[in-house]
Amino acid sequence: MTARPTDAATDAASTLAVGGERQVPIPDAIARDYILLGLRLDQHIPGLVDAYFGPADLKAQVDMEQLRPPARLADEADALLARLPSDVADAQRRDWVAAQLVALRTHASGLAGGELPYLDQVTQSFAWTPARRDDAIFDAAAAELDDLLPGREPLADRLAAWDARFEIAVDRLPDVVDWLVDRFRSTAANLFGLPTGEDLRVRLVTDQPWSGYNWYDGGLRSRVDINTDLPVRAADLVDTIAHEAYPGHHLEHAWKEADLVARQRRLEASIVFLNTPECLISEGLAVLGVEFAAPPAEMVDILVEVFERAGLPIAADLEEAREAAERTVAMVGLRRRLAESRVNAALIRHADGASHDETLAYIQRVGRYPPRLAQKIVEFIEQPLSRTYIFVYHEGEALLRRWLEVVPAEERPARFGRLLHEQLTPSAVVAELAAADSTPTAADVAPPAAPAGPSAGPWSRSGDDQRVDRTPPDGDSSSTAPSDRPAAGA
Ligand SMILES: [Zn+2]
Repeated sequence: MTARPTDAATDAASTLAVGGERQVPIPDAIARDYILLGLRLDQHIPGLVDAYFGPADLKAQVDMEQLRPPARLADEADALLARLPSDVADAQRRDWVAAQLVALRTHASGLAGGELPYLDQVTQSFAWTPARRDDAIFDAAAAELDDLLPGREPLADRLAAWDARFEIAVDRLPDVVDWLVDRFRSTAANLFGLPTGEDLRVRLVTDQPWSGYNWYDGGLRSRVDINTDLPVRAADLVDTIAHEAYPGHHLEHAWKEADLVARQRRLEASIVFLNTPECLISEGLAVLGVEFAAPPAEMVDILVEVFERAGLPIAADLEEAREAAERTVAMVGLRRRLAESRVNAALIRHADGASHDETLAYIQRVGRYPPRLAQKIVEFIEQPLSRTYIFVYHEGEALLRRWLEVVPAEERPARFGRLLHEQLTPSAVVAELAAADSTPTAADVAPPAAPAGPSAGPWSRSGDDQRVDRTPPDGDSSSTAPSDRPAAGA
């Protein structure tokens, strides 16, 4: 796909976007009806629409009209699904809208009294069925962590004590955040390109159920919130900035607005939903993003610099700081494995019918979480939207990691770049995996190597190549703290 200038702002076929300051292309009938359906459903399920930066008139229309009964919305989703084969020529677009519509219909039917059993609900929401983990994998990860953090106290206590050394004082956060944003933005520009004019700002907030969140406002702009209710630790902050900003949620939304909405006029991409298949892709790429922003070869240096900029006592001794950074990096994969206990916890709670307390005890035992964080995780699992959303971090990461690893390391940035531009569904990714006959994927899950310079991938381009003449929400891998992740987000 070649980047080319667009002039949507002056195009006769454009209309005012929400916010009243930008123009967007006028949607075709499918996109218009998809947006209307989603906005109407959001009136019944507040928060289902995670971002909307499309036509203002559609929003105004829904705000002014009578509430539509959920059963009617389910029928409208079915009617839209039936129109797709004749109305949408592009196969990728058609499959993507169809998968999204199945999820929206499921949510509407649930409201209308046709709620499915939990696991079916999850499967219909994400076009994906989560897999229950064998508890043995948590014990194996804990045994390895035991070797890395020897001591007599329980492992959960040792992990908590270790983490406490890397907590960043709130007043030091802005400087560290700015540095990380600049660095990761520059890395993302080299690897994936940036749409001209994209920007974001970061705010520190409190009293939220998540640890970080990307609010995408359209116009290539995001607000990234970092919740300081729980201590923010160095490794988690590195993860959160990659996840929420570059090359995670902000970059994904910005590129999709520039490419899909402005250039290809696929206005369905101007509305973003929670609990739909797009989330599995979006969270999967956001979790994996840190491996491009801070590849293993650079991670130790990045952490040491974060220690210094944060004014952590450990930074006073460079040797000690490097050793701590190396150990932190060694623990990342193991702690990510422990975090997968959230998948089991949600299944135990909602599919098996375990009580709140039983789930809490489970997550503390197998996930080695301290009580306060375990409590936040279970609360997250019990919230109406996040009770299903919890899966998308780990399942999305696992799916996309396999998909990235069927190509050689030097091709992975280009492949990752497709996630930022295309309308890929979980099923499409599975189909590509099957076509690649991935059977014996490398057992080693080495993160992608960092290319030395700008990649030659199909999506790689400099920011200057792209003109967009418009003003156009976990997975803490290392951590115990969730990111947009719903406070228990990964
Ligand atoms: Zn996320």
